[in-house]
Amino acid sequence: MTTELYDITHWIAGAETPGQGSTQPILNPATGAQVGTLQLGDAATVDRAVEVALAAQREWAQVSLAKRTQILYRMRQLMVEHTEEIAQVITREHGKTIADAKGEIARGLETLEFATSITQELKGFFSENVSTGVDAHTMRQPLGVVAGITPFNFPAMVPFWMHPIAIATGNAFILKPSERDPSASNIVARLYQEAGLPDGVFQVVHGGKEVVDALCTHDGIQAVSFVGSTPIAKHVHATASAAGKRVQALGGANNHAVVMPDANIEFAAAQVASGAFGSAGERCMAVPVAVTVGAAHEKFLEAITAEANKLVVGPGDRAETDMPPVITAEAKKRIIRMTDEAEAAGARVIVDGRGLVVEGHEDGNFVGPTVITDLDRTHPTYTDEVFGPLLVVMHVGNFDEAVELVNSSPFGNGTAIFTDSGHYARRYQEEVTVGMIGINVPIPTPVGYYSFGGWKDSLFGEHHAHGPEAVSFYTRQKAITTRWPAQNETVEASMSFPTHE
Ligand code: NAD
Repeated sequence: MTTELYDITHWIAGAETPGQGSTQPILNPATGAQVGTLQLGDAATVDRAVEVALAAQREWAQVSLAKRTQILYRMRQLMVEHTEEIAQVITREHGKTIADAKGEIARGLETLEFATSITQELKGFFSENVSTGVDAHTMRQPLGVVAGITPFNFPAMVPFWMHPIAIATGNAFILKPSERDPSASNIVARLYQEAGLPDGVFQVVHGGKEVVDALCTHDGIQAVSFVGSTPIAKHVHATASAAGKRVQALGGANNHAVVMPDANIEFAAAQVASGAFGSAGERCMAVPVAVTVGAAHEKFLEAITAEANKLVVGPGDRAETDMPPVITAEAKKRIIRMTDEAEAAGARVIVDGRGLVVEGHEDGNFVGPTVITDLDRTHPTYTDEVFGPLLVVMHVGNFDEAVELVNSSPFGNGTAIFTDSGHYARRYQEEVTVGMIGINVPIPTPVGYYSFGGWKDSLFGEHHAHGPEAVSFYTRQKAITTRWPAQNETVEASMSFPTHE
């Protein structure tokens, strides 16, 4: 692993492009040490990237579908060859385990693989003789220049939900990755160039609020895809919509897993533990709440305690690590504070991760797996997104109460039910107000050729991410009606609205 500090610049017009102004340190969450320096952009950097993108997009839209597909196939191969390098960078800057980083790269590639079938996805419709001698057809065209703004927790996968489809459909894409773990995006930019993508079609501008706001309001940008926390998703949705752009803004989550008394409790506990503690709970599809129904409660507490106590907490680059550090020292403090506040309000702390120290990594952002129960449903440690390895176990009397609790959350990203009953599983999928549902599956993240998205405060906008909905998001439809009368044929023009005869 690199020990020298490295600089991360923007990637504009196919080249590393230094920033003009402020910088921000990149820290390794496992050690607390600085590993790099990020050059932050501003509104002028966005202006430059958009100018380049506008010129590049005009030419890119004329490139044949066959040629676009060949470039995407080459890109896929390069990503596979560079998986180890990208995973190392993700682990260094994000903290997650190498295996988990490779997992997110593989899941991101599902969208790239879907994008290689763009020849199928961009087919229009044709209807002959919709009226006498009149045909109708449709086609989809790119929007132009589009932007993506992404969170820290999936520095490879979430951008991949966006750019392969935006590019395959003929757009130019500007990525503003998280400022906490930005390096993976620059590697992706370099690989796109190596794959043969023309310069300017994929660019990276680093930065914070100023860059985000400039992307949301720039006249040259037609659409904004955002993934991150709910308050910023709302801000991006409002700002970019007011500027007349198409927007999809995916927000935060507080996913519940219901454990029915008929479930295999050991299986459910192992699955919930993976959802609650995998990647230290820093997934939008993490499971920070288990809802035990009736007699499941005591058995589940026992089983989840055993699962949590098994986990090895350590740096992500150590093979035996199950659970890595959280992203920042502030995040660690927030998780500990939320546990303290729950305890002060009368909750029982069944597994306590607050005092954990990883030997040799005393300055790392480690919090152990934590399980609490007997917490009031109005307490912020239950209602708010914790985004850490803290599982709240809520106990209800029956299935209807479980559904009511799940639906009372303002979030609606993902949820799961553990049961042996097809009847309750079917009712659950029908009755919950949540976008993605797992039945005996804790993290029901849709595959790349379906679309991903939550309901309520977990998504603002009409389109879900990746898969078919992304093809629709990144394109505009034209409907064409055609008549080719013979040269001397007269067709009577009617003054009334045309009916199809
Ligand atoms: P975040 O909202 O802090 O940041 C997301 C992006 O917004 C980053 O690029 C960041 O630079 C930018 N940003 C931050 N503050 C801003 C501001 N004031 N104005 C404009 N832009 C700003 O999110 P995060 O902490 O990086 O990621 C974790 C969050 O993302 C969690 O809430 C998680 O649930 C959510 N998330 C959701 C999904 C989903 O699919 N719904 C997926 C992954 C993560």
